[in-house]
Amino acid sequence: MTTAVLGGGISGLSAGYYLLRRFGKPATIYEASPRVGGWIRTECHKNKGFLFEGGPRTIRPHGLAGANTLQLVEELKLSIKPISRSHVAARNRMLYAKGKVCLLPNSALGMIGTIEPFTKPLYRALLNDLATKVTVAKDGDESIYSFAERRFGKEIADYAISPMICGICAGDAHEISVRFLMDSLFEKEQKYGGVLKGLFYSRFQDKDEKNSIGIFAQKQPSLYTQACREKWAMYGLEGGLEQLPRALRKYLAKNNINVHLNSRCQNVSFNNDGAYLTMRHAELPVEHVISSLPAYQLALIVKAQHPSLAAKLLDIPYVDVVVINLQYNNDKMLQYSGFGLLVPPVEKLPVLGIIFDSCCFDMSGSTVLTVMMGGRWFSKWFSNQPSQNELREMAQRYVAKILNINEEPKFSRVHTLPKCIPQYTVGHKRRVENIRKYISNYKLPLSICGAAFDGVGINDVILSARRQIDLLPVR
Ligand SMILES: Cc1cc2nc3c(=O)[nH]c(=O)nc-3n(C[C@H](O)[C@H](O)[C@H](O)COP(=O)(O)OP(=O)(O)OC[C@H]3O[C@@H](n4cnc5c(N)ncnc54)[C@H](O)[C@@H]3O)c2cc1C
Repeated sequence: MTTAVLGGGISGLSAGYYLLRRFGKPATIYEASPRVGGWIRTECHKNKGFLFEGGPRTIRPHGLAGANTLQLVEELKLSIKPISRSHVAARNRMLYAKGKVCLLPNSALGMIGTIEPFTKPLYRALLNDLATKVTVAKDGDESIYSFAERRFGKEIADYAISPMICGICAGDAHEISVRFLMDSLFEKEQKYGGVLKGLFYSRFQDKDEKNSIGIFAQKQPSLYTQACREKWAMYGLEGGLEQLPRALRKYLAKNNINVHLNSRCQNVSFNNDGAYLTMRHAELPVEHVISSLPAYQLALIVKAQHPSLAAKLLDIPYVDVVVINLQYNNDKMLQYSGFGLLVPPVEKLPVLGIIFDSCCFDMSGSTVLTVMMGGRWFSKWFSNQPSQNELREMAQRYVAKILNINEEPKFSRVHTLPKCIPQYTVGHKRRVENIRKYISNYKLPLSICGAAFDGVGINDVILSARRQIDLLPVR
């Protein structure tokens, strides 16, 4: 009997990789669709010198999770396209607010003057933090919006935090847990009575960052050392991010970790010796199951035997996002340079943000933009199920309104991504603890990794897979 990994997205493939590294035994990955990579999908127009990313496009190199991914990228010998901190795509981040494109401050000096869309200098938000007493959060959690509003004021919550949450998880900051992004700031505030106070005092006490790459026993990955030395802010991959799951699949196949495509798992039942997987044409006995599936998919397949586990998994909500890639045969279309812009939800537009892909990476004479729409507000804007053409036209209308680009794109692609990003709403941490407690109490031979549980970024899901494999007992 072997170990089975469910899902061939980046977390499932990573689980296969770490299983191989730790145990060196064959294992099998079952993927429902005809391809690996999950939401990582690159459409490469090599002859025209540009590419479209339908999902993620950049990875951050920082901290333990960043170093862990770089180690994987290094071992797979992939070519990196770094973006340094001084690059315009790292320095310039914009908002579309109050009818204008506003450049956010990118240095401490920017805190002094009043910068649109804010009506007061940003340093006043810091004074607010210093002057405000701490409120002890009920059940150790609150929404990131309420935390930001409490500490820094409503404008920061509306125009800095809310758009950032849209950019990261297409979610509503009023619902997302403060622990999703600001766990350590929140802890510091609760412990020291304010964010700035906490940052000041904890400098002498917290050694997290120093210990952060501790899992690399003796030597940290050389790409990580290079990223620190060259001050990378983020990176992409030559040929697009899909190179990562493709290379992983190839590497795994060479080492007896098979990936079975078109193999949807329909049911899992656990017994004293392991588990049975129900596939379309077979019942497969396995020793242990690693699930990298979205929580609602795992819920479906455990429901018959473990309905209350399924109910806990279904408590993790997801949102749908529309991604529209646009390419123009002219690289001088944009009046602005930077990573792109975000649209704060207070603007009440269907657009979450527009990424300036051709500012981040060279696209050989093209301007390439990606418009993201919907997210937490998907049903408000798209319940009438618009066609791909209608979605494209809508995206172009906003590109014209916001960026003053009125030309027809030469190439475009529209993807509607159903339930693509889990929402870490208030209480998420406890929800995940309860799911893992259930699995442990019932001694189920099941490990869970992937975007639903331990972070939604690529780095998080790769590290989540590694940690779950590290926890498996040696038999
Ligand atoms: C639009 C968008 C933009 C993003 N941008 C970034 C970014 O720039 N940087 C970043 O770090 N992260 C980004 N992310 C997040 C990142 O892409 C995801 O966290 C990551 O790809 C999730 O990988 P995963 O393997 O956990 O899940 P998935 O990619 O969802 O993979 C799960 C796999 O399981 C398969 N499956 C489902 N049910 C079954 C079943 N019953 N049996 C077998 N297989 C099944 C699915 O087909 C899928 O292949 C973005 C995400 C989206 C949607």
